[in-house]
Amino acid sequence: MSGSLHLPAGVLSARFENKQTLSFVERTTPPPVLLAPHLLRLQDGAWSLMGSRCVACGELYFPRARGCTRCSGTELDDTALGHSGRLWSWTIQGFRPKPPYDGSSADGGEAGFQPYGVGYVQLESGLKVESRLTVADPARLRIGMPMRLTLEAYRHLPGGEAVHTFAFEPVPDSTPS
Ligand SMILES: [Zn+2]
Repeated sequence: MSGSLHLPAGVLSARFENKQTLSFVERTTPPPVLLAPHLLRLQDGAWSLMGSRCVACGELYFPRARGCTRCSGTELDDTALGHSGRLWSWTIQGFRPKPPYDGSSADGGEAGFQPYGVGYVQLESGLKVESRLTVADPARLRIGMPMRLTLEAYRHLPGGEAVHTFAFEPVPDSTPS
C-alpha cells in the first residue's frame, strides 16, 4: 500500500492546491463509479463527504441521519463535511470482513485479500468518521496526523471497471519517518 493519490478512472493526473482543492488536470471518461454515491459530492473539483446537520441544534451526522439523537429534532439538512481531518484512531484489518462488508469475492476471495488500514478521522468540524485508510503500514500511521479524503478502488465489476469507495490518506510529508 502507498500513500499516493488514488485517481478516479479517467483522471490522468491531479494535484492538491493549498491542501484544499483537488485540481484535475485532465478527464477523458465519465466520473468514477462509486460504491455509495450518496456519501460523496464533488464540489469545485474536490470530493467532500456528505452528511446531515440538525437544524435545531447543529449536531452533525455521517452518514446522513433522519433524526437527531442529541435533541430529538427531525429536521436535518444535507451538509458537506469537507475532506480533511486528523487521524483519531486506527487499526489494520488483517482478514477479510464477513459479509456484507467484504466487497466482492470477484477480487480473488481470501487469497486475494490485502490488509488495509481502517480508522476514525476527526474532521475539522469535530465529527469523527469511520473510514478505510490508504495506508496499511503501522509505521506510517500516527494518531493526530493530518489526513485527506480520496477515492480507492474497492472492487471491480465483471467488465473490469473499478468501483470506488472513499478512503483517507495521510497528507504528504506528514508521515512519521
Ligand atoms: Zn439536534
